Amino acid sequence: MRPARALINLQALRHNYQLARRMCADKALAVVKADAYGHGAVACAQALHDIADGFAVSCLEEALELRAAGVTLPIVLLEGFFQADELRQIVAHNLWCVVHSDWQLEALERAELAQPLTVWLKMDSGMHRVGFFPHEYQGIWQRLQASANVASVVLITHFSRADEPDSARTHEQFQAFSKASEGMSAPISVCNSPALLAWPDIRSDWSRPGIILYGSQPVAIQGLSREKFQPVMTLQSKIIALRELPAGEPVGYGAQFIASQPVRVGIVAIGYADGYPRHAPTGTPVAVDGCLTQLLGRVSMDMLAVDLTGLSHAGVGSSVELWGDQVSIDEVAARAGTISYQLLCNVKRVRYEYSTI
Ligand SMILES: *Cc1c(COP(=O)(O)O)cnc(C)c1O
Repeated sequence: MRPARALINLQALRHNYQLARRMCADKALAVVKADAYGHGAVACAQALHDIADGFAVSCLEEALELRAAGVTLPIVLLEGFFQADELRQIVAHNLWCVVHSDWQLEALERAELAQPLTVWLKMDSGMHRVGFFPHEYQGIWQRLQASANVASVVLITHFSRADEPDSARTHEQFQAFSKASEGMSAPISVCNSPALLAWPDIRSDWSRPGIILYGSQPVAIQGLSREKFQPVMTLQSKIIALRELPAGEPVGYGAQFIASQPVRVGIVAIGYADGYPRHAPTGTPVAVDGCLTQLLGRVSMDMLAVDLTGLSHAGVGSSVELWGDQVSIDEVAARAGTISYQLLCNVKRVRYEYSTI
């Protein structure tokens, strides 16, 4: 069997949720959209079921997967519905639903529902993706109050630059949100992971941590080192071949790495078809049998090369960690010019192994 696998540490997930929960003033929705950022939404939701306040996913299909697996906690659909006929199932499965656009509001007002719905009313406070503008918000709120299809409302907005501690944008957005929602007596939901880390003065009734649950830190914050978020996924494989090459020899496609001195090369059974980033350059950290070393040359579809010079104990069968406890996924992402979110969501083809809790 091919040795590439993703080990999912569900204890770490629980630890991270509890840590995030302590940073929130109030409740926290565990964001498990996109198959829990590539970790397996059902397994993650089940592992958090006795401690989470609720979950957030992007769409009805993702929510139905959780309901089918026995998840009974609140689930928010972060983009609401895409077609009006989804409303029937949203009500039937007791899901909470974002409303971000006029067409959704109109469909909701027109629908004949068995029960009224909990609506998460989205404001565009400056991200400029979806949501109602601050100047429209009061009017939309009035229409929701007047609709027999609406049971209760939560006020939600999303930050565009919360991972930049030096940017004024987060406070500007929060101010716009607070001002436009003055006088509405409803819970608010504003903080994603970077906001929880970088903006401790901004708190809301429902926080929405995602990436920190999986152990990546989107902002480097001093003082957070003692009780750190723990990596949940370890991406691993094994060395399947060795090469001793003299100076001047290239490794891999395009000869992107050329040995400047004799080099001992290990070939690892993992590649970009498994979700390891093809843009990770020579020098990207990997760990072989617990020792840090580096990637060499271009990543191929099914294999990549690592430097074993000086690691005389390592050989065929040695275990290789691409990211996890030893190799920070945030560092791999930075080297590859992307973010941990994308790396985690892209993992595929590998075997998933879950720790018991
Ligand atoms: C994905 C998402 C989140 C979670 O973001 P993280 O940066 O992973 O914490 C929160 N809110 C909304 C609306 C989202 O789409």
